[in-house]
Amino acid sequence: MSKFVTQDTRPRKVRYLNSIEQLPSLPEDQKNELRGVEKKYAFRLTDYYADLIDWSDPEDPLRQLVIPRVEELREWGKLDASNERSITVARATQHKYDDTALLLCNEVCGAYCRYCFRKRLFMDDNDEASLDVSEGLEYIRSRPEITNVLLTGGDPLLMSPKKLLSTIERVREIDHVQIVRIGTKMTAFNPWTILDHPELLEGLSRFSTPEKRIYFMNHFDHPRELTPPVIEALDRLLRAGVICVNQCPIIRGVNDDIDTLTTLFRKLSFIGVPPYYVFQGRPAEGNEPYKVTISRGFEIFDMARTRVSGLAARARMSMSHELGKVEVVGMSRDYFYLRFHRSKYAEDRGRFMVFHRNDEAYWLDDLVPAGDVGPNVTRHLQKVGTRENGFREFLCRERQVELL
Ligand code: SF4
Repeated sequence: MSKFVTQDTRPRKVRYLNSIEQLPSLPEDQKNELRGVEKKYAFRLTDYYADLIDWSDPEDPLRQLVIPRVEELREWGKLDASNERSITVARATQHKYDDTALLLCNEVCGAYCRYCFRKRLFMDDNDEASLDVSEGLEYIRSRPEITNVLLTGGDPLLMSPKKLLSTIERVREIDHVQIVRIGTKMTAFNPWTILDHPELLEGLSRFSTPEKRIYFMNHFDHPRELTPPVIEALDRLLRAGVICVNQCPIIRGVNDDIDTLTTLFRKLSFIGVPPYYVFQGRPAEGNEPYKVTISRGFEIFDMARTRVSGLAARARMSMSHELGKVEVVGMSRDYFYLRFHRSKYAEDRGRFMVFHRNDEAYWLDDLVPAGDVGPNVTRHLQKVGTRENGFREFLCRERQVELL
């Protein structure tokens, strides 16, 4: 067992570090370099997670995950890369797919992942998340097609157990909502939010009924995050009748290699927290140092899946695009094969699409169709102009006219 793995599951008061100044292991010259980054993109970390980092290794994957890098200041992407504003239907409420609504019920996390696609929430002038979700609950009540509600943010587990349970209770009062999901990385950043709160487990067990379950959408990116206290916390959740799954992006320097992802998939399946989604990182502002191309990401994901049992290989690789969840189904020498796993528009449901393979591509918007991709994707690509004007060139080639 590595010296960076804590075995201790006894009660612990976890401290939140809100500035890089509070990191004794980070040398002063590096702190000086990173002050500008910290000013732009918030920093936060738990002392427990800081202890998991191998500070002697500048490339340590857990360090990459939470410690800022100057490269974050490079120009890249948009703050709201999937245009979530456009699906905001009430205060702190998003509704994109008929059956699912999101309540952004908290604007803080236990630590801030450097590659976060919602880092705009942690900025001063953002009002997209709110502890008050009354408007959202009214909206959900008025829409009987909503059967799934995802509590997210930020991280709902940062609320007090009392507040979180009362929010769940208010959702449960809406009869047509069957599944309540809680999107969290607190099981990784501070498992004591579960271990030291039996009242939370008791409440979750009350609201996770045989007919209407509570799901924990956990977020583990690296197998070293699965420490004994984390596994113990997950076990207590499972015993409380909560269904646990995992979703994570592929992040450069953290889990962008086949062995790491294989080990993560294996361990997750062993402990009963099966991988659900593996995400292509959104091109969000500040995320340039963490980007992985679609082809590299798919190669890693696909190879890892061949090395694990069927139970661990159920994950899908998906781009959470503004038009829907676009699954990367396959890749050949010349093409990418994509399919709408979920779609914003009914006419795109299940749509299968072929694009020219582009090994420089990071997002759907970088791709050129190699056939009919339907009116919504075509319109979107025309609007964004497929990066580097690839789409314009493609149309000109197709129509055999000169590029103006
Ligand atoms: S836990 Fe999720 S929302 Fe919070 S910083 Fe990490 S990726 Fe972003």
